[in-house]
Amino acid sequence: MKKTASHFNKNRKNHRGVSPAQSRRLRANRKKNTNTGRKARQEVISPELLVLIFGLILFFIFAGLIASWLFRGRSLKDQADSKAAEQGKESQKPPVHVDPDTIKPDIKKKLLEVSEYNRPGIDLPEVRGVVIHYVQNPGSTADENRRYFANLAKNHDTKASSHFIVGLEGEILQLVPLDEIAYCSNDANEDTISIECCHPDKSGKFNDKTYASVVQLTAWLCALYNLEADDVIRHYDVTGKMCPRYYVKHEDAWEQFKKDVEDIY
Ligand SMILES: [Zn+2]
Repeated sequence: MKKTASHFNKNRKNHRGVSPAQSRRLRANRKKNTNTGRKARQEVISPELLVLIFGLILFFIFAGLIASWLFRGRSLKDQADSKAAEQGKESQKPPVHVDPDTIKPDIKKKLLEVSEYNRPGIDLPEVRGVVIHYVQNPGSTADENRRYFANLAKNHDTKASSHFIVGLEGEILQLVPLDEIAYCSNDANEDTISIECCHPDKSGKFNDKTYASVVQLTAWLCALYNLEADDVIRHYDVTGKMCPRYYVKHEDAWEQFKKDVEDIY
């Protein structure tokens, strides 16, 4: 069979044994593969992509750091807040005192009439202490001392009074309401409750009945106004006056008095 040139060309194979048609296909495929490969390589390693990936990694690292810092800050703040709240509770915790009603002594109300000489009728908005006095009139009774104060409204001898007088039998008279000031403790009148105490002799020492009632009355007032033993003072502590005499002369007796008050409330 005579072979034509085209026939020859069509069937001729190159030195690798590939026909021109196959060779074209192979070249085309190679080109295609090369293009695809280049494109794929471009997708994986393009500098823009690297920058993007690197940027994302940095972003997540920083985001993680910031989140952990914020969380730590908040948890530290929470800890500090709860600690502060705990301490606040601690400092605001009121001292543990008994219910005043359970230790209230028997009090006879014999209020003075309002008068500028003994019961001025001025408000006592806040009680910060209790002031102890002695009547300075040995053997006088609570009623006699009340009468002395009441008479000042007529004789105008001086201006004086007290919220309470405790008598030789331990009786307790109230002359001025607790929300009004009494004329008893000079500069301390405006924020204290005053107690005058009867005494059998000029030493000024209270007898046992008077002492017991004064302690009970003072403890009740401390519980009522949430006071401490150191808020119980002597007239002496306000002005330096020798009142109540025995308990100024005998510091140990005064300290014992405050301890006895503290034991009750
Ligand atoms: Zn006094």
